[in-house]
Amino acid sequence: MNKSQHQLAPGEPANLSELPTSSKPFHDDRDAAEKEFRKLRKQFITWQRALWAEGRQQLLIVLQAMDAGGKDGTIRKLFMGVNPQGVHVASFKAPSVRELAHDFLWRVHRDVPAAGMIGVFNRSHYEDVLVVRVNRLAPREAWEPRFQQINDFERLLAETGTRILKFYLHISRDEQRKRFQDRLDRPEKNFKFSLDDLEKRKQWDDYRFAYEDALTRCTTDWAPWYAIPSNQKWYRNLAIMRIVVKTLEDMNPTYPTIDYDPKQVKID
Ligand code: AMP
Ligand code: MG
Repeated sequence: MNKSQHQLAPGEPANLSELPTSSKPFHDDRDAAEKEFRKLRKQFITWQRALWAEGRQQLLIVLQAMDAGGKDGTIRKLFMGVNPQGVHVASFKAPSVRELAHDFLWRVHRDVPAAGMIGVFNRSHYEDVLVVRVNRLAPREAWEPRFQQINDFERLLAETGTRILKFYLHISRDEQRKRFQDRLDRPEKNFKFSLDDLEKRKQWDDYRFAYEDALTRCTTDWAPWYAIPSNQKWYRNLAIMRIVVKTLEDMNPTYPTIDYDPKQVKID
């Protein structure tokens, strides 16, 4: 498959301060973008049906971002109208005592998509080289080998029929401030804010550094990272949808052949 827009290249350092957060260089017509998005979503719905019917390949979509980066909104917009039975969304929070008693991929492996499914990770195994590293939840000896372990794990998934797309929703620090303020201003959004978010905002540069390292070291041919300019939600949605539909086209799921002739079957 040709390299898509915003796809990072294996072996090249990901420099987030040079990668755009705004759609401006790519698109400035919101109405046209939303129209294209709706058209692509119809194609997505059709492809998902075939993927499910075929039952032989899987698609895994990994979403990572700074707080308020838009992971929840992306899932809501992308999957509107898609058959929920064929989609499995897993949100990864701070691990439980039981999860902590296993290797970091144990809980993740349980939630990868089964045959014919689309899996979505709202946060993921990458938290184990991000928050864990920045907040020193484990010593360097524990998280340093994880980059390689992640690449090996993702290779296992790829070799067993799972296409992997990893999206970093790239927002500016100023955009995060606006979104936090919105969460404070709107009562129905209050629940999305926590005081801990302000602590993490203070560590913005540490997180950026940890993200750059993860994006650089875990961009592989079998599991590419994309840095999506995400200050404008309409552009973020379109950019991701384009990549998802293109990937499904490339996977080209087909309906299974049947072992009977529908014209010969008579129902009394
Ligand atoms: P939210 O996505 O806002 O519901 O928050 C989930 C929280 O869980 C975030 O603060 C994450 O950093 C945290 N989290 C997710 N995975 C891990 C992990 N492996 N270790 C520690 N914290 C995690
Ligand atoms: Mg949060």
